[in-house]
Amino acid sequence: MPKSHALTSAFVHDQLALRSRSMNAGREWPGGEYVLYWMQSTHRLEDNWALRFAVREADRLGLPVVIHQGLDPTYEHANDRIHAFILRNARELARRAERLGHRYQFVLRRRRADDRRVVDRMAARAALVVTDDFPTAGIAERTQRFAARCECRVVAVESHAIVPSALFVKEEYAARTLRPKVMAHLAHALESVADPVARAALDESVWRSFEVDRLDLNGDLGAAIAGCEIDHTVPPAPLVSGRTAALARLRAFCRDALPDYDERRSEPADPDGSSRLSPYLHFGQVSAAEVARAAIASVGRAKAERFLDELVTWRELALNFCLRNSNFRSLAALPDWVHRTMRDHARDPREAEYSLEQLERAQSHHPLWNAAQRELVATGVIHNVMRMYWGKSVLTWSATYADALRHLIHLNDKWALDGRDPSSYGGIQWCFGKFDRPWGERPVWGTIRSMSLERAYKKFDAKSYEGRWNGGELELFTPGE
Ligand SMILES: Cc1cc2nc3c(=O)[nH]c(=O)nc-3n(C[C@H](O)[C@H](O)[C@H](O)COP(=O)(O)OP(=O)(O)OC[C@H]3O[C@@H](n4cnc5c(N)ncnc54)[C@H](O)[C@@H]3O)c2cc1C
Repeated sequence: MPKSHALTSAFVHDQLALRSRSMNAGREWPGGEYVLYWMQSTHRLEDNWALRFAVREADRLGLPVVIHQGLDPTYEHANDRIHAFILRNARELARRAERLGHRYQFVLRRRRADDRRVVDRMAARAALVVTDDFPTAGIAERTQRFAARCECRVVAVESHAIVPSALFVKEEYAARTLRPKVMAHLAHALESVADPVARAALDESVWRSFEVDRLDLNGDLGAAIAGCEIDHTVPPAPLVSGRTAALARLRAFCRDALPDYDERRSEPADPDGSSRLSPYLHFGQVSAAEVARAAIASVGRAKAERFLDELVTWRELALNFCLRNSNFRSLAALPDWVHRTMRDHARDPREAEYSLEQLERAQSHHPLWNAAQRELVATGVIHNVMRMYWGKSVLTWSATYADALRHLIHLNDKWALDGRDPSSYGGIQWCFGKFDRPWGERPVWGTIRSMSLERAYKKFDAKSYEGRWNGGELELFTPGE
């Protein structure tokens, strides 16, 4: 086993310098009773750079750490699917925190009218607030608003990337421009770090004095979710949430599928051919670095290269895009050649024009597309290959390119367990030509790379995939039903 770096090592110092940024001009408050780690996007205690930052600073100040996680009904598309995935992981997290000696609390704000300043009250007694740095899912904006009104210092720390994104200050043009740079840093970035708890323990009287309504995570989580003012028409997905399930899936993937990943990942009828870790990665239940280390340990770096290209190059390209291009949810993010070709083909007759509701209900004319939409509604994910066909088809089935983008973002953000992630917007915008080059000119597509559902039948076993998802009624509820 390679030796882990201590929190006080030069390696950790350098990593934290690259991964952290001050969000306000506030100072550490000398009267602070603890360092507050406000957990927003990295829902784990291991390999969590924000928690490491909090523990290191707490040790320096001689203070304990308090980990606070909250869930509000106000995020975009707040629904049972996302709430359940977060809460079930939180139950496991609370048990692990207790075992390891961390102080962790979870506060569920059920109704919009309920107290919305819990984190402010927690911060008012803190010497320093540390939180996750994450560009999507409304987290960056929430952090900025909070930091602007917080009197003490607020630091945001990035755990999403394996290689610190600060090393790439410009927007990358394509995978080929990022790949050599990010891969050159990979081995160094994967060095392991010990994860101790803060040396100072929190006084029990301080813990009890917080004016917060902590959720009993051993209680009935289904009932707690049912009591929330959120969209109850998007039911929980079957995927088991939590770090134990994530690590079990990682082990099974490395053992059974990674050696043949190159071939198996392209077959949507073989759901075990790729890792299916994207929901766990999105919510930070497992880190991309842990996944990369496990893959390399299992088959060696050379044999893991194809998988690492997805996990590192494409995933961090999407992160770079969302960090460096504030238009990542709009067509304005696309390169000039795409705008030119869209202008040229704006009036081309479309093969079909579907409303958002028709798409959501999988009511297109094409059974293969409908199967992908049904997979999304039923499970919260779509197989990678089908996700490309799913996205590309909508481009040709909407009155305008802007409608197509809006529809895809809505469907993905609302139904996907891994939605609202940098990879969501990277993947969707790729359908419109982002990270790509011009191809041969065709109606509607212009010079954007086309993908035909008809041709999919020649490339993989599309019939089996269709059969798997197209049986039975699609259970899609409308509010009020
Ligand atoms: C239209 C469209 C929408 C997409 N929406 C999402 C989304 O909401 N969330 C999401 O995580 N990914 C999204 N992707 C990227 C990709 O499809 C998924 O990451 C992948 O299918 C997840 O399956 P997996 O975990 O089995 O991947 P694996 O093949 O096992 O790859 C391992 C990990 O690498 C990352 N990854 C793989 N492919 C890509 C990629 N092309 N771009 C960025 N990261 C990648 C993911 O974190 C993934 O879990 C989208 C792609 C398209 C074309």
